[in-house]
Amino acid sequence: LKRFAIGVDVGGTNLRVAAVEESGRLLEKVSASVRALAGREEVIEELCRAARALSNKYAAEASLAGVGVGVPGIIYAQTGMLRQSPNLPGWENFRVRDAIASRLGGKAEVSVLLDNDANLAAFGEQWLGAGRDVSSLCLLTLGTGVGGGLIFDGKIWRGFLGMAGEVGHIPVAENGVPCGCGSSGCLETEASATAIVRKAEQLLASGRSAPLAEAQRRDSALTAQLVYQVAKNGDVACREIFESFGKYLGLGLAGLVNTLNLPLYVIAGGVVGAWDLFSPAMFAELRRRSYVFAEGSTRVERSLLGGDAGLYGAARLVLQPPA
Ligand SMILES: [Zn+2]
Repeated sequence: LKRFAIGVDVGGTNLRVAAVEESGRLLEKVSASVRALAGREEVIEELCRAARALSNKYAAEASLAGVGVGVPGIIYAQTGMLRQSPNLPGWENFRVRDAIASRLGGKAEVSVLLDNDANLAAFGEQWLGAGRDVSSLCLLTLGTGVGGGLIFDGKIWRGFLGMAGEVGHIPVAENGVPCGCGSSGCLETEASATAIVRKAEQLLASGRSAPLAEAQRRDSALTAQLVYQVAKNGDVACREIFESFGKYLGLGLAGLVNTLNLPLYVIAGGVVGAWDLFSPAMFAELRRRSYVFAEGSTRVERSLLGGDAGLYGAARLVLQPPA
């Protein structure tokens, strides 16, 4: 009998559950929206309902290895307790793994493993995505914030307190804006969707981009996507936002490349869609700042699995548990 796993990705407003075979083949993927203010009990209930439905559906043709769950925040992987999560208020010090395992457990014990969502995205990308041909990589997710995951020799590197991979808080800008972490000028404050919107607001306030003001009047919501469209249409001031974004990303990458000397750095997250606008500045800064960066051999590439990387990584967590 083949084995399969249920992979789960818990977001702030969105819950995704997938059944994945041990070969990496996706059997089925479902999404459930979670009320923005839903309590943790409601989210766990919905998660277990979807996991149970999928595992029952495929139980006849394959045996269930377990349920892997990716959660944003700092996790004690050993105990499956969520220590802290900015995106899941009310979940602090919550034993997520036990809550899921006790609901799913019936006649048979179900193995449930928990990890940070960015760690699992990196784990998934190394299994089936851009990192298929390497055993070590660093993944950076550029979205509302900036997250990261490290895979060394096929294993997730969590750090001794489970806090490794916080690449979003690498300091890159002197006198930068305050960051949610308590520092300022972090990579996250310069190379995230939030940074793009903040700089676009400044541009609107200064009156330096008529095309952006016009686009906002039409579209009303000022998003990173809107700024990208205006930049694509040739607006110099908006293009500069992506050049600055690329420069700071290159600066952060240079520090990582010099420290880690990995074969691959994967760039993921929603903002990766603006690759054509930010990557030239990113590579220029990386070349300028890193003597460890080897042209033609050190790879900096876009994610291949996109938003599904974390689901595959969660499934892999139970299919290929660490020795
Ligand atoms: Zn920070």
